[in-house]
Amino acid sequence: MKLRPEILATPPYRQGKPAGDDAFKLSSNENPYPPLPGVIEAVVAAGAFNRYPDASASALRQVLAEKHDVTPDELHIGSGSVALLSQFITAAAGPGDSVVYAWRSFEAYPGLVTVAGAESVQVPNRADGSHNLDAMAAAIDERTRVVIVCTPNNPTSTIVTAADFSDFMAKVPSDVLVLLDEAYAEFVTHPDAVNGLTLTGRYSNLVVLRTFSKAYGLAGLRVGWALGPIAILDAARATAIPLSVTQPAQSAAIASLAVETELLERVSRLAALRDSIRSSMIEQGWTIPDAQGNFVWLATGEETLEANETFLRHGIVARAFAGSGIRISIGEDESVEKLLRASADVVASLPAGHSARRLG
Ligand SMILES: *Cc1c(COP(=O)(O)O)cnc(C)c1O
Repeated sequence: MKLRPEILATPPYRQGKPAGDDAFKLSSNENPYPPLPGVIEAVVAAGAFNRYPDASASALRQVLAEKHDVTPDELHIGSGSVALLSQFITAAAGPGDSVVYAWRSFEAYPGLVTVAGAESVQVPNRADGSHNLDAMAAAIDERTRVVIVCTPNNPTSTIVTAADFSDFMAKVPSDVLVLLDEAYAEFVTHPDAVNGLTLTGRYSNLVVLRTFSKAYGLAGLRVGWALGPIAILDAARATAIPLSVTQPAQSAAIASLAVETELLERVSRLAALRDSIRSSMIEQGWTIPDAQGNFVWLATGEETLEANETFLRHGIVARAFAGSGIRISIGEDESVEKLLRASADVVASLPAGHSARRLG
């Protein structure tokens, strides 16, 4: 069979192990809360399953446009923001072109770039897990078509500040597309963090990506949205698989926006729990970067697979990146005791002088 060699070399997507009955699944940054009641009713009410959905998600775009004071044409809806990432990368980059992004960052980026036929240029994070924006700007050359900035960064949970982002944008050529992936924006409490929604109209090459999967708890329904210049969104729309955002998904997103106050109250509880888990872990002896997503990052390095076994033994299913670290999502309150017992065990097992262990 003649298949593309770069595709054959790309591992297929594999989901984390399902958690056993008494284990907590903290491996996919999912929201532990069920959807608010009006959301389920909206999904059921949308149920004309014999009909195709509204292809342009006009009602959802209208609601988002009013909320963010933009026109509906400046918004584009996708079946999750991963689908949007794929559309923008495909619209801008093909064979011979490159896409620059930080590494380690979102695990989906390398595959999406390869599928588009383009090449990845991965710029190592700084020691604290944050993007090295100076190095990313310096990595842009005449082949670069797209730069992806992920804040908070998955999996290190670090942010890009508004000031650093503005300096960065000043260095990026105006014909290179910048995708600001803010999948976890709602969990951010740091006052200096960039917020792409405040930058509308400022840059002709900036697209902001948001999702209903994380804070809004709709990961299973697949809805994400992009805000940016109409011409760039039109290019993405041209690459999209038509009709992939279902009507139940559109209705659930609209219903979630109607109960946003309650939803965001849950989000702030999760952010507070994140801060308290991080503080407890630091007391246990961990060094952990400031966490601004709904997850924390343990830079266990060479000890990662062994550390992950210890978490599993304690009933904690986390996401391990061999040789690099472990990402742990903030889950239900009931998971915290188990999690902290596991992390205490793991930090005690790290060799003296390990960089994830606090000095002294
Ligand atoms: C989870 C995530 C997304 C989006 O996921 P969808 O469910 O496809 O909306 C996008 N970017 C990052 C960095 C993520 O972690």
